[in-house]
Amino acid sequence: MVDASRLGIHQGQLGPICDFCGARLTFGQALPIDEKWACNDCYREVTGVESSVDGKQVEGLPID
Ligand SMILES: [Zn+2]
Repeated sequence: MVDASRLGIHQGQLGPICDFCGARLTFGQALPIDEKWACNDCYREVTGVESSVDGKQVEGLPID
């Protein structure tokens, strides 16, 4: 499911890399947009919505 070539080590953990700014993230910080990972800042920039870090699932994202 997760492409290992796009993972990095962050805070001692293996985690995704933001596809928009290249920031290294933990899985707890990474927010999925379609098939990409985004950090919190990029997520808000790309989706225009406030992200939630409390485990709420985001649905209905636009796909282009
Ligand atoms: Zn980012």
